Amino acid sequence: MPSELEFKGYALTDPSKWSDLKLTSFKPKTFQPEDVEIAITHCGVCGSDVHTLTQGWGESKLPLVAGHEIVGKVTRVGDKVSEFKVGDRVGVGAQIGACLKCRACKSDYENYCPDSIETYNGEYPDGVVTQGGYSTGIRAHERFVFPIPEEIESAHAASMLCAGLTVYSPLKTYGAGPGKKVGIVGIGGLGHYAVLWAKAMGAEVYAFTHDPEKTEDIKEMGADHIIDVTKKDFAKPLAHTLDLIVSTVDVFKSDMPLGDYLSMLFVHGTFITVGIPDADNPLPQLHPFNFAGNGCVLGGSHVGSKKECLEMLELARKKNVRPWIETMPMKDAKRALEGLKSNKVRYRYVLVQDIN
Ligand SMILES: [Zn+2]
Ligand SMILES: [Zn+2]
Repeated sequence: MPSELEFKGYALTDPSKWSDLKLTSFKPKTFQPEDVEIAITHCGVCGSDVHTLTQGWGESKLPLVAGHEIVGKVTRVGDKVSEFKVGDRVGVGAQIGACLKCRACKSDYENYCPDSIETYNGEYPDGVVTQGGYSTGIRAHERFVFPIPEEIESAHAASMLCAGLTVYSPLKTYGAGPGKKVGIVGIGGLGHYAVLWAKAMGAEVYAFTHDPEKTEDIKEMGADHIIDVTKKDFAKPLAHTLDLIVSTVDVFKSDMPLGDYLSMLFVHGTFITVGIPDADNPLPQLHPFNFAGNGCVLGGSHVGSKKECLEMLELARKKNVRPWIETMPMKDAKRALEGLKSNKVRYRYVLVQDIN
């Protein structure tokens, strides 16, 4: 049956005007028997969109439709699709492809597949460029499509699929739960989810922020302790305390106190950075001294797997976790992108479909 969806979206066409997106038609993924076609209703606005559109992670493909926090309705399924049917409410996150054959893929680590394909600015083996969710529709292999539980609103589910999952994955992997002290650095879109999940998992949460204007919000999100990192020696009282720190910071200033963060970890504590700054903005320099006092571990994490995503959605459903979001029509993507870049967002923008 031919698709009735017309594929068009708000695309970057001129990188010198990174937030001026133009309504443009694009070629969707070549439809395969395992594919699901989705008419998009909502799409969250992620920091990755800003890094990609501003060319901070390197030159992007053009035209480019960003957006990888996608929710919509299934309009078509391939013959081999077993999990979904037309009319289902589903989502797509930051990853849209992988080999599905390698050790990582077979171990529910498809988010670490060497042949992973990003939801936008990526390329399928047949040369079709992937285009994201500031658009009418998307096609995806069913492995990269998530069923949305009935109890979760579409606008709420959307930003869970990248921001939410990106912090859920390390919290789960490194054991956030009852009896654990978990630090969250940077309370923006990702960080606010990290506070919400870590509390829902039963951990004691320490929120680190440089923005005192967010204090009341962070309290309301449920953080047990709020630490102002602009205060001198903020880390000292917490030396040897935290079991895990998840950092969402994606701009490393020269005075980023990474060594101070590591000093707050308890023995074998783990510091995970999920924020990925521009290519010319590496981690601050460390010395082995920084690891000697507590045997701490420094690492990273990349989005999350489908298995983790389904667990996260179940946690959100069961514990009624609601993100702090602001919705606006998709044509206002410029306002959302600029608000995110200048840190005005509280705490995630979600675009609502307006293309006829
Ligand atoms: Zn693979
Ligand atoms: Zn993202």
